[in-house]
Amino acid sequence: MAAEVMPSRKRPALQHPHHNANGQVSSGQPRHHGDEADMDAFSIPKLLQSPTSGHKPDQYDDMENLEYPPSLYSGMELYLPGHLLSAPREKKVSFLDRILAKYRPNGERARKHREYRERIRFNYKPLHEELYSLNPDHVFVPGFLNAVKDGSEEALRKIIMEHSPGVYTFNMLEPTFCAKMLDEVQHFENWALEAKVKVMRPNTMNNYGAVLDDIGMEGMLHELMMGFINPLAGVLFENVGGSTLDAHHGFVVEYSMDRDLDLGFHVDDSEVTLNVCLGKEFDGGELFFRGVRCDKHVNGESRPEEVLEYSHVPGRAILHAGRHRHGAKAITAGQRTNLILWCRSSQFREMKKYQRDFSSWCGECLLRRKERRRKLSNAKRQLAA
Ligand SMILES: [Zn+2]
Repeated sequence: MAAEVMPSRKRPALQHPHHNANGQVSSGQPRHHGDEADMDAFSIPKLLQSPTSGHKPDQYDDMENLEYPPSLYSGMELYLPGHLLSAPREKKVSFLDRILAKYRPNGERARKHREYRERIRFNYKPLHEELYSLNPDHVFVPGFLNAVKDGSEEALRKIIMEHSPGVYTFNMLEPTFCAKMLDEVQHFENWALEAKVKVMRPNTMNNYGAVLDDIGMEGMLHELMMGFINPLAGVLFENVGGSTLDAHHGFVVEYSMDRDLDLGFHVDDSEVTLNVCLGKEFDGGELFFRGVRCDKHVNGESRPEEVLEYSHVPGRAILHAGRHRHGAKAITAGQRTNLILWCRSSQFREMKKYQRDFSSWCGECLLRRKERRRKLSNAKRQLAA
């Protein structure tokens, strides 16, 4: 069943996935903005007000690693939205866990995440040790490496294609590195299954995939961002904090017929997002883009020049502003795994709090500002006449 993809120019319902430290997963409900430490009320999926009569709830006693007593899930199941009643139990559990999470103190969430990381650190044996430290010659294709070494704007721009305003692609990762990453992720998932460790998912919208920072790649990815994304982001995304990136959230997402099919329309919890397809073979799953918007204008219409559809090519990176509205169409065959790095700037986030006009990057703020100026100069002209 392919999900509905938003037609161009139609007002979209936008979602905001957050990076979450406690691995809650999506229910596919529209998301509202919030930050990772504080899942705001808008982001929580809702139950029905009265129970569905005649529905026989599932039993949850045999499920491992439940957050709450099995009877609680059976009881609450009667209040699930209709489309979830016949869903797999895992789906119902993750939906209910998301609802119940707000009653769990923040400290407990952080503790769980810490325990999860410790458990991996002490028990998980990597398949490819070399992936855990950055060896540029093994990771990057020569063209990319040389451009970054050169460091000039001219050299960097030479390797980049701009598909629509603010969406850039370039060849980045060596095929051997991509293949090893795919193997490593599979190896980790096999281990988690065996060890009965519930994998914490990368954000509130992806039900599959894993956080690379959790499995020990935090240092490697930080180096990758500081040494190899910062130079590009400083040139291409200065207006959204690209020259002051200082933190990241790194993960892989997986799409196939028996995993997530697609990804709803949303903005990222990042200033700049790096998205690289690792493979393998697939049909469909195109990314679509609809222009950069601030919080206030995030659900506004897009202009024709902002509409873009892009087909992933393994090894090729996409770089875009986190506020660039986008989604992924349904995959129709095969499996697609992407490496995603949400790059953040603490400085930009702090400064943004004091601002109300974002016309340096929001398409709609810019239009409105132009409109105000036109009116003002018209008024002046009339006054002079
Ligand atoms: Zn705006």
